[in-house]
Order: sequence, then C-alpha cells, then structure tokens
Amino acid sequence: MTSIDTNKHKKAKALKPGSVRPAKELCSECGLCDTYYIHYVKEACAFITQRIDELETSTHNRPRNLEDENELYFGVHQEMIAARKQQPIEGAQWTGIVSTIAIAMLNRGLVEGVVCVQNTKEDRFQPMPIIARTPEEILAAKVNKPTLSPNLSVLEEIEKSGMKRLLVIGVGCQIQALRAVEKKLGLEKLYVLGTPCVDNVTRAGLQKFLETTSRSPETVVSYEFMQDFRVHFKHEDGSEEKVPFFGLKTNVLKDIFAPSCMSCFDYVNSLADIVVGYMGAPYPWQWIVVRNDTGKEMLELVKDQLDNQPVISEGNRKPAVQQGIKAYDDAVTLPMWVAQLMGVVIDKIGPKGLEYGRFSIDSHFARNYLYVKRNHPEKLEAHVPEFAKRIVGQYKLPE
Ligand code: FAD
Ligand code: SF4
Ligand code: SF4
Repeated sequence: MTSIDTNKHKKAKALKPGSVRPAKELCSECGLCDTYYIHYVKEACAFITQRIDELETSTHNRPRNLEDENELYFGVHQEMIAARKQQPIEGAQWTGIVSTIAIAMLNRGLVEGVVCVQNTKEDRFQPMPIIARTPEEILAAKVNKPTLSPNLSVLEEIEKSGMKRLLVIGVGCQIQALRAVEKKLGLEKLYVLGTPCVDNVTRAGLQKFLETTSRSPETVVSYEFMQDFRVHFKHEDGSEEKVPFFGLKTNVLKDIFAPSCMSCFDYVNSLADIVVGYMGAPYPWQWIVVRNDTGKEMLELVKDQLDNQPVISEGNRKPAVQQGIKAYDDAVTLPMWVAQLMGVVIDKIGPKGLEYGRFSIDSHFARNYLYVKRNHPEKLEAHVPEFAKRIVGQYKLPE
C-alpha cells in the first residue's frame, strides 16, 4: 500500500449528525461515518458487506473451525474460562474485568490511549465515546450504555493525535468496521477488547423497554438478560428487580430492537483479540474467550487479580429453542404468574454454562435469520455468515 493510498480517506467528508447513513435503516450508528473513514464504508460497514469469515482469518491467522462445536458457536479461540475480579469494581457492569484490563494496559505502557464509552452529563445512558488517557477516564466509562454507540467516531482524532499504540473496547459491528480500516489508522499496534452484544436499541427504544418492563424506569442504573431467564434490573438505591423473559411483552417489544441488531450475527464479537461477557459462565461469574496471542497477552496482565474456573456445559437447549421460535413468531405474551413459573422450571432443568450461551445464540440467530429473510430477502445469502447458516439450519423455521 503506497502512502498516497493511505491518505486518500482524508479527503472524504464525515456525514452530518442525523443524516441518512449508507446502510440506511440497517445502520447501527457505529461511528465510522462520523469520520473521514467513511471513504471505506462499502467494504467496512457490517451491514453493507458482511466480511466476518475473511477478517477472522486475517486477524487470527486461521479460519473458524466449523466442525468444532465450540468454535462454530463462540468463534476462533485458544482458551475459554469463567472468571471474576477478586475485588470487583463497584458500579461496573459485572465485576469490572474490562475496565481492569484497560487500566493495566495503560499503566504498563502497552498503549497510549483507550477507546471507550462514557455517558453524557445530562443522561446516564447516552453514550459519549472518548479516547481515555488516564485510569480515571477509563473508570468513568465503566458499565454498559445499553444503546447504539458511535465508538468509531473518535477515529479521526486518533490519527491526528499521532498515537501509535491503542486499545479499542467495542461490540461486534464496531469491531468489524474497525478491523476493515485497521491498516489505515497509522498505528504500530492495535489491541481489541470486545464484549458480546445482542438486542441493542436506540436511546428512544431503550426508554420504551424500561417503561414497558421495569417497575421504576427512571431509577434503573443497569440491567442484564440473565442465565436464569430473567432480566435483572439494578436500581439507584441498590435494589434488584427480576422480570422473567417469558413475561416480557413481546408484542410491544418486537419492534424496539434496532433493525441493525435484528440483522446481526456477530453476537460473540468474532474479530476481537479477547472477549469478556457472561453468558458462557455460571452466575455471577464472567466469561472470557481468548482468541489469539494478543488476547492472551492482555489476559496475562490481570490474571493475578482474578479467580478463575473452567467453563461448564449442561442441559439440552434444543427443545427450548424450537419452542421459543414458535412463541416469538406468534408473539405470545404469557401472564406474569405463568411466566414466573416457567422461568423457575427452565432455570432448574435448563441449559447451563456454554449450553446457555448456545441457547441464546440459537434463539437470536433464528429470529434474526427470519428478520433478514422477510425484510431484506435480497441480502440473505451474502449477509448471513456460513457459521450462522449452519446454526440456524438445525431448526425448523416458519416461513
Ligand atoms: P465494565 O468494566 O463495566 O466496562 C464496560 C465497558 O463497556 C466500558 O469500557 C465501556 O466503554 C464499554 N461499553 C459500554 N457501553 C457500550 C456500548 N454501547 N458499545 C460499546 N462499548 C460499550 N455479554 C453477554 O455475555 N451476553 C450478552 O447478551 C451481552 N449483551 C451486551 C449488550 C451490550 C449493548 C453491551 C455493551 C454489552 C453486552 N454484554 C453481553 C457484555 C456484558 O454486559 C459486559 O459488558 C461485559 O461482561 C463486561 O463487564 P465488565 O464489568 O467487565 O465491564
Ligand atoms: Fe456507517 Fe457504521 Fe452506519 Fe455502517 S453501521 S452506515 S459504517 S455508521
Ligand atoms: Fe452492533 Fe450487533 Fe450489538 Fe447491534 S447487536 S449493536 S449490530 S453488535
């Protein structure tokens, strides 16, 4: 690549806030189009050109092994563990492993800056992407902003700052676009710390979800769709509220997820060096997937601050997934007391550990496959990655 090629993008113009993005209604607001890197949007946008398979090979030096069930579901990896901080970070989404890795990398001088997401002063859930240069700035980005976030909107600033070593924290769609332009950023080393991500919403959608589901929407500080088949809301006063998935008003909530997220097949953040989530681990542990040597280096930095245990897998998800596909398609909403009961029963006999992770992936991929087939049939073939086609192919889907 010549230097002329490398600089071409600087002539491109970022789009104005609020203007229609190239991916139109499928745009997940990843932030790329807020910068001159929009120049590469055709090959970088996860919703215009789906390139997970190809980018997995270039990032991890080998393709995902589709014959291995764990790789088929969780992507290229060297290691998976369940872990938790011995001393959790108060107010983090889980125990704060993401913030801890980022702080360790900055403190050891491995990176000069960390792309992460704080919130605006006015709104605790309104994302404000930044390049953190101190541990305090990283800590101020702890906890999920459970809404679409333009993390890549700071990319121009990175190039202008002259930074050579960078850590980016982000979700799958952001990371696909980042990997596609990685070589144009002028960095010596890029580290990528990913989280899984599913069912994301616009800020307005988030408000509707909170108002439809929680007893006190204005005091929610964080929430999570948990392995016990309930949404756990944490409130400002420290109290917890648990609402069974099976009691969610699916007929109302059906339309709140962003079209991008109804078309997304990168739940497990395939292109990150390391992924930190929870869904493959027993509650309240976190789940770590080390994808390559860079990810291993990142985990090693904090291992002495973690308890860890092997991942487990128990139960049989498939009947529950098949039933769920039908219930979702019929938009069945159960009365709350039946839902509570079903939640308890499923929790007792249901899938645990990696099998819960597969339950969640199967259910979401089946729903998203149907969404793309019905709303963007012309995109179906190229947009759904091979691994997702295999996963969905295990189930009987309605037309
Ligand atoms: P913390 O130390 O609290 O740090 C959180 C980090 O997340 C911060 O660095 C911040 O920059 C970043 N962040 C916050 N909001 C966003 C955003 N909107 N986009 C990009 N980055 C953001 N895990 C699962 O196992 N299954 C799921 O279904 C799942 N869904 C998720 C959906 C979303 C929208 C997000 C952001 C995360 C999701 N996760 C999921 C990951 C999980 O909820 C935790 O974020 C993860 O386990 C890290 O917890 P922590 O305590 O280590 O993070
Ligand atoms: Fe641009 Fe990102 Fe939207 Fe695609 S998802 S159109 S790259 S802002
Ligand atoms: Fe992006 Fe997929 Fe998360 Fe939506 S669900 S924000 S498209 S990674």
